[in-house]
Amino acid sequence: MILHIDMDAFFASIEQAINPKLKGKPLIVGSRQNKMHTVVCAASYEAKALGIDSGMPSADAFRICPNLEFVPAEQSKYIWTSEQICKILEDFGYQICYASIDEFQMDIAGLEQPLNLAKNIQDKIYKAFGITASIGIAKNCLLAKLGSKINKPRGITIINEQNLDDILFKTPVKKLRGVGQKFGLVLDNLGIKTCLDLYQKTPYFMKRNFGQNGVNFYEELHANDRFQIQERPDKPKSIGHSYTLPRASRNPEFIKAWVRLLAEMVAKRLREANLVSRTVHLWLNGPEIGNFGAQKTFCEPNNDGVEIYRRCLKVMAKSGSKRLKIRALGVSCSGLLENQYYAPLFREQRKGESLIKAMDKINDRLGQNTIFPAVVFLTQRMQ
Ligand SMILES: [Mg+2]
Repeated sequence: MILHIDMDAFFASIEQAINPKLKGKPLIVGSRQNKMHTVVCAASYEAKALGIDSGMPSADAFRICPNLEFVPAEQSKYIWTSEQICKILEDFGYQICYASIDEFQMDIAGLEQPLNLAKNIQDKIYKAFGITASIGIAKNCLLAKLGSKINKPRGITIINEQNLDDILFKTPVKKLRGVGQKFGLVLDNLGIKTCLDLYQKTPYFMKRNFGQNGVNFYEELHANDRFQIQERPDKPKSIGHSYTLPRASRNPEFIKAWVRLLAEMVAKRLREANLVSRTVHLWLNGPEIGNFGAQKTFCEPNNDGVEIYRRCLKVMAKSGSKRLKIRALGVSCSGLLENQYYAPLFREQRKGESLIKAMDKINDRLGQNTIFPAVVFLTQRMQ
């Protein structure tokens, strides 16, 4: 069983918890300082009730509600809170995945009374930060995430064998992660309106209409997910690269460029072995930090250098200080899975993948790193 935690109106709730004057009021968090020329990146439930939601231009939101409260977004605050929530969750002793800044998943296989655990999680987070979470529990990540969206805010939805058909029948298929506007329209044309309509389709139907990606989606929807991965004995447990800098450096841009290069090298080896990875490990060595090592596990397995690099930066944030002197560093990936199961269903991701494949081809033909991301160039030029 997977337990999915989704924070309710995360950014807006944090702002309301910090500033009691904002509590109970319609509030938007904007991506920029200028409140009339920005986009809503989070809306409080009071604002949502008026029809305001994230993605909307702030000017439209103010037209709907001229007395709207406004706060510009402050990422560091939300990232810090997200990290603290992770720590609370880790204390429950289950394996955890980070799905996004405000979403987390737990593998709770074998737990008899998940309802008590879910309530406990909600209470602990509320006591610590005064903000609420919604929780979904189901046999796999996709359905658990769906469950978390059903009774917002502060809801708990358990999808089990008894109520699965009933819940899926009542839920429009567009609520499923991965069903965007375009895919939703295609499904609609095929007469698939509810999650149950999709759930009841056969792998044959999915293959005929959506190819291998359709079969993958079918498997994701029906799977019994576990985070503990059954690794084959012939498969490596981890893939990594490390490097000692010619001279210790305190320049964060230079260090990040090296992390990026190592991430690209690890990603290429993952692709060569047809593997994807869920866990990123970063190792840093320097006079102040000594040997620092930390890792994070993510829900989505990956073998793209940019994404592995982004994940490394999240791990790096754990080291605390910003301008550390670094002498050597290493990136490695574990939690390895076969790649084919995770062929991307979505256009954006597919575009990214064909770009990576093209880069790999050129590098294979003309020599290692003939083509590489521009930022990696910094490793040659700066020190
Ligand atoms: Mg959320």
